[in-house]
Formats: sequence, structure tokens, C-alpha cells
Amino acid sequence: MRGFAMKRIGETGWVEKEAPKCGPLDAICRPLALAPCTSDIHTVYEGAVGERTDMILGHEAVGQVVEIGELVKDFKVGDVVLVPAITPDWGSLEAQRGFAMHSGGTLGGWKFSNFKDGVFSELFHVNEADANLALLPEGVDPVEAVMLSDMVPTGFHGAENAEVTYGEDVLVVGIGPVGLMAVKGSALKGAGRILAVGTRPNCVALAKEYGATDIISYKNGPIDEQVMKLTDGKGVDKVIIAGGNVDTFTEVVKVVKPGGIISNVNYLGSGEFIKIPRVEWGVGMGHIKIVGGLMPAGRMRTERLLNLLVNGRLDVSGMITHKFEGFDSLPEALELMRTKPKDLIKPVITIKYDE
Ligand code: NDP
Ligand code: ZN
Repeated sequence: MRGFAMKRIGETGWVEKEAPKCGPLDAICRPLALAPCTSDIHTVYEGAVGERTDMILGHEAVGQVVEIGELVKDFKVGDVVLVPAITPDWGSLEAQRGFAMHSGGTLGGWKFSNFKDGVFSELFHVNEADANLALLPEGVDPVEAVMLSDMVPTGFHGAENAEVTYGEDVLVVGIGPVGLMAVKGSALKGAGRILAVGTRPNCVALAKEYGATDIISYKNGPIDEQVMKLTDGKGVDKVIIAGGNVDTFTEVVKVVKPGGIISNVNYLGSGEFIKIPRVEWGVGMGHIKIVGGLMPAGRMRTERLLNLLVNGRLDVSGMITHKFEGFDSLPEALELMRTKPKDLIKPVITIKYDE
């Protein structure tokens, strides 16, 4: 079996491996639609989670089941399934505490392209198929559905952790695909005003479509100064961070009202510490919460996200700017995530089979 891998930090390439084995609760799938992620770039080129050798990359996929474990009840060979980026162990203590994404340890539910081979592979293994997969509803395009592996659940989780509610002022830092879904998630949860930070023109246009009321360029000076100016010195109720770096926290703490929440979904690939300014953090007594979260997954949540798509409440088509065909285009598509050309939001690769 062939896969496109992280050979070591800073280097990618094709690898040949033995096909994965299917346990009694598991599924083996072949990919139908794949998307590379900014996270793959942090992992390979920043070494953000440490060294990996010949680990197959990718965690965003729609696939077809080719083998199914004998204890799996609800899926069968031939099913077309949405595969979430995070595939927890649902019996773990972390799952019982409500944090399945950290099953087995911090980030432990993020297996593909982290602790095991990912989906950029002719065949890939999914643990606990009944709990982790979702059947693709009739009529849903796999190219669109693959946005629900990671981009939608992560962006929406930013809004969830920020506890966005009716009429609030929300600042979304970063409007790549994750930030765009944080904008949309905030709008769905009833935000009043949504200030969005980013510069790529097509991201800016799409952010407005998804509900951004104001656009801020981080290239035009500190974000906090621009937010304070736009809000007449009042600041915002909530902040969602989906772009920037460790220094972003230092800026946004300055604009959150007492009792506000800063919700990070950005993968902090480099930098040692996050600096929180003492005075702006209410000298330690401002009730300003700072929370960071890996996307939740699971079949029920994934089916609910699909429900938004099926019923026209969510349109992800605008995010797919580059389409490729065939497994061999994986390196080119991944390279786009690294170079981030101005017109890129998200590339998707489709794979067709003869039989
Ligand atoms: P993109 O690179 O497409 O988008 C990043 C955004 O941040 C862009 O809008 C960019 O602006 C903006 N930005 C860049 N530098 C700054 C800065 N200094 N200050 C403020 N904004 C800045 O990334 P994605 O949307 O693909 O992913 C966002 C993050 O989410 C990544 O770190 C990714 O790894 C992470 N992630 C986290 C997951 C989770 O479960 N928590 C899951 C999936 C992804 P511009 O328009 O100029 O490019
Ligand atoms: Zn991803």
C-alpha cells in the first residue's frame, strides 16, 4: 500500500507499507475525497508534535468501507462514510469525563497523522467504526463533505468554547477555513457583531458572506488598537483565535470585556510561552477565561453537522478553491497548504476507482 508521508521533520515523500489490519470494532477504508490541512504543515515543517518517521499524513477524508470488523453493527462494506479528523476511544476515562478528543492523554483522540498513519493512503484504518464514522447522506458531494472532517467541527468548536450567544460582539482572529467556520458558527449561535481578522481577498469576501460585519487587517497595526477603535473603546464579549501565533493572546486579552472568553483553536506550532498581560487580564481578577480546544468528533456530532449541510443551513462550497483528481496529486495539494497562495482557501483531491 502506498501513502504520502512525513519522512522526518521537514521532509515528505511516498512510502510503501503493509495494509492495516481490521480489528473487530474497526473499519478499513479507501479514500474518495481528501483534504490537506494547515495542521499537516505545522506537524511536518515546524515539528510541532515532535519527530515522526515515515508517518503517513492526512486526517480529512471521505472514504468507502472495504473491510469491516465482525462486531461493527451499523456499517458494511461499500458504505460511503465521512471520517472525522479525530477518532477517540469512546470507552476511555477521558471520554467519560466529556473530553473524548483527549482519550488516552492530551490530544490522544487525534490519531491520524499524529499517533498512527493518516488518510493520505490507499487504505486507512478507523478505530471504533460505529462510534466514529458517519454515513454520507444521499446526494451529499464527498468534495463538500470532507470540509466536515475538520474545518467545520474545529471552527464551530471555537464558537462553542467561546459560549457565543445572542447579540454578542465576537472577534474572530484568522479567516482561513477554520476561522471562516468560526465566523459561521458564531453567526449560527446568534452573535450580533462579528469582527474578523485576515487579509486574503477571497477569505475576506467569504467571511462577509458567513456573517462578518467588520474586517480587520493584522497588517495595519495591532489588532487590539483596531478593535478598540471600531468598538468605541468598549471591546468585545468573546474572542475566537483561529490564526496568528503565541503573541496573538497578548493582543486579544486587551480587548475582552470582564467576564469574556478567549477561545483558541489555533494549533500553536512554535514559540515557548504565551504571555498574558497582567493589567489587561484584570490583574488576575477580571473573570476572563482563556480556553483552547481540539475539535470534538464522534458519530452523533458528525451526523448533526451533516444535517446542517443537508438542510441548507451551511454551505461549504465557497471554501473549496482548488480541486485535484487522483492520488498522485497529493504532494502538489499539500504544498499549496505550505505556500498559501493568495487565492487559496482549501484544496480537495478526489480519487476514482474502476470497480
Ligand atoms: P490558514 O493559514 O488558512 O488561516 C490563518 C488565518 O490567520 C488567515 O486568515 C491569516 O491571514 C491569519 N493570520 C496570519 N497571521 C496572523 C497574525 N499575525 N495575526 C492575526 N491573524 C493572522 O489556517 P487554517 O484556517 O487552515 O487553520 C487555522 C489554524 O487551526 C491552524 O493553526 C490549524 O493547524 C489549526 N487547526 C486546529 C484544529 C483543532 O482541532 N483545534 C483542527 C484543524 C486546524 P491571511 O488572510 O493574511 O492569510
Ligand atoms: Zn485538519
